[in-house]
Amino acid sequence: MRDFNPDSVAFAKGHFIAGAVVDEPGERLSVARPSDAVDYAELPIASVETVDRAVKDATEAVKRSGWATRPPRERARAMQRWAELIEAKAEELGQLEALGSTRPIAQAVTGDVMGTAEGIRFFSEYADKLGGEVAATRTDHFGMIVSEPYGVVGAITPWNFPLSMASWKVGPALAAGNGIVLKPSELTPFSTVRLAQLAIEAGIPAGIFNVVQGTGAVTGDALSRHPGIAKLSFTGSTRTGIAIMKAAAESGIKPVTLELGGKSPQLVFADADLDKASDCIAGSLLANAGQACVAGSRLIVQRQVADALVAALKSRLARVAPGPTWKSSTGFAPIISELQARRIDTILARSREQGAEVLLGGSRIEGHGGAFYQPTLLAGVTTENAAVREEIFGPVLTIQSFETEEEGFALADHPEYGLAAGVYTADLGRGLRAVRQLKAGTVWINRYSRTLDFILPTGGYKSSGIGKDLGRQAVEANLRHKTVLIDIGG
Ligand code: NAD
Repeated sequence: MRDFNPDSVAFAKGHFIAGAVVDEPGERLSVARPSDAVDYAELPIASVETVDRAVKDATEAVKRSGWATRPPRERARAMQRWAELIEAKAEELGQLEALGSTRPIAQAVTGDVMGTAEGIRFFSEYADKLGGEVAATRTDHFGMIVSEPYGVVGAITPWNFPLSMASWKVGPALAAGNGIVLKPSELTPFSTVRLAQLAIEAGIPAGIFNVVQGTGAVTGDALSRHPGIAKLSFTGSTRTGIAIMKAAAESGIKPVTLELGGKSPQLVFADADLDKASDCIAGSLLANAGQACVAGSRLIVQRQVADALVAALKSRLARVAPGPTWKSSTGFAPIISELQARRIDTILARSREQGAEVLLGGSRIEGHGGAFYQPTLLAGVTTENAAVREEIFGPVLTIQSFETEEEGFALADHPEYGLAAGVYTADLGRGLRAVRQLKAGTVWINRYSRTLDFILPTGGYKSSGIGKDLGRQAVEANLRHKTVLIDIGG
């Protein structure tokens, strides 16, 4: 992986509608590089009219191109060519991702871009696999449940992993035969347009994958309310998820998939392999500087091993390599914006006022143009502490301890969130009891974080979401089901 000059990266700065970059006059937004806070581009904000045009064009394109009606393996082949093209352009896409997001170039190329290609390949394989089923009816009847695409799906994505998050929405929607209009985060808008351009180059018809740029309040809201959008898929904060669900309900009923926030526990029992546990916990905290929905941000450790585990974590977290995302030596991500860094400051200040003791970090890493935050360990916290309750979206780990298994499970439960949980134990029975007890959409045992096993769906319990991304379930969520009953006589 080479370093690159952020000022020399060329990219399209508009919307992507009907297979072309569209840049209309109108309201604009400055977009900053997280690494050095330099404004590097202006973003057009799609108005209600532009969103309307994109949805209508997509609807036409679905009909005209036969994307839904062609032999499904043709859809699969086009998506597979797209995956190959993404891999072939890994360096270029990685630079674009690293330029405007928090993803360091080395991780962007090998992780985000390659994962995006593989994810699209995974979803392509479902194109001819989910046609429906024959129902067990009386024998003079023939009953079928027929799977059909919705038409045009709307998607709204967050800033933390722009390409991956887009691929999780576009992959299943297209494999199922839908068109899509996607609004990326206004903080990280450009790599998604390049992804859409490559789709056209690979043979996916123009107008099937469209990108509208803009803010949540204007563009996101217009997309959520558009009557031509038959299904919505959103990844982002719980607060925005609530607004989107409301907008979807107020503008005519449409199903919504919501992948929302988390405050995931990492439960370490005294019999665990502490070396391995501390590797996993530190890895989860450092990944994208804690700006990941599944960040395991609450350590809950059995008392007799708490000191040993904290010592192991301190030594692992002390060695980070912050730097601009365009340097191949950078291993630790910047915080997305000054606003977000201030939010971390505020939660930490409240947490301290409520009695938290800072064991490591606790403030900014100075000397960079953008905002960077020290990996931070907070002890002396109760379940009421702000840092334990609120999703921080930074490299902050709270530490609570327990005596009995029951206490551990009780502490792991969060009143609002239930996205993921990690459990570390040598006792298989206890691990499986944890699976039963923990109210989370994903439970990892003796490991933490997602793998390239796209077959495993991801999604939250409680306010962490509704429905699943990834897995067969994500494709099924992009299909609706028609019941057919035929009288065949006899
Ligand atoms: P956000 O909710 O602020 O924004 C997400 C997207 O929603 C952006 O594109 C934004 O423009 C848009 N938006 C904002 N207001 C809107 C509105 N009223 N109507 C329609 N769209 C609107 O989230 P973020 O700060 O970009 O991302 C961080 C959040 O995303 C965290 O809470 C994180 O946990 C969550 N996340 C969840 C998952 C998951 O799989 N569960 C994955 C990644 C991120």
